Amino acid sequence: MSNTSDEQLHRTPYGGATSNGLIDTHAHLAFEPLIGDIDNVLKRSINARVIRWITVGTNIDQNRKSIALTEKYDNLYTAVGIHPHDAKDVIAGDLAELEKLARHEKVVALGETGLDFHYNFSEQSTQKELFKKHLALAAKLNLPVIIHSREAFDDTVAILERWDGRVEKVVFHCFTGTADQAKVILDKGWYISFTGVVTFKNANDVREAAKIVPLDKMMLETDCPYMTPEPMRKQKVNEPALMVHTAKFLADLKGVTFEELAAATTTTARIFFNITT
Ligand SMILES: [Zn+2]
Ligand SMILES: [Zn+2]
Repeated sequence: MSNTSDEQLHRTPYGGATSNGLIDTHAHLAFEPLIGDIDNVLKRSINARVIRWITVGTNIDQNRKSIALTEKYDNLYTAVGIHPHDAKDVIAGDLAELEKLARHEKVVALGETGLDFHYNFSEQSTQKELFKKHLALAAKLNLPVIIHSREAFDDTVAILERWDGRVEKVVFHCFTGTADQAKVILDKGWYISFTGVVTFKNANDVREAAKIVPLDKMMLETDCPYMTPEPMRKQKVNEPALMVHTAKFLADLKGVTFEELAAATTTTARIFFNITT
């Protein structure tokens, strides 16, 4: 990629303290194949005006790799957590290690955490216990929480409600629910983040939900390397540059310009994650 220099890549490239440029609020940049080509992945992203990223950890090893990445790139932040899929593999000491990692200066949230009753890779009771431990840690460290919830909406909300007043900032990431579920989330004062799923032909429910989410509660993400948006879906490995397709799609859906949607959702993300650079 020619028009982003290495200097721009590692220092703050554009935008400075303004809201100019998009934020990919949920990427797995420490996953292969993205991490193996990370300079080019981020250069393509900057060229597409996606200029900040939050890379999300799913287990202790991924959290460590994610933090190491944030130390290389100014505009890269991270969330640390243990995915509900990985709940079964938690060993003694992991939670203490998670707390230690969560105190790193580039950590802007805890997660992803929550419940996944679609795959059930871990026992539901094990997932719930681990989820509660994340919420306790978020309250202790005063960090926002990134929620992964799949076919477990009511259980997820019931657990979160017990932390009302202690865990204030909550985002349901890769939202694939209904408008009714979105309304529950908004009524609680929580946030909703959309991936390329909203562009999928069979995702009418998700589009109906997006219509009722105000831009000051809406964030954008890739969840890359997964969830490539239309019309790029045949590109199997998603990456942050492709988030502009989701942004354009949502701008049309909301009846605003791309610039308006970009500015508003970036402001929402900067406030939510307390990103001031
Ligand atoms: Zn997830
Ligand atoms: Zn994820």
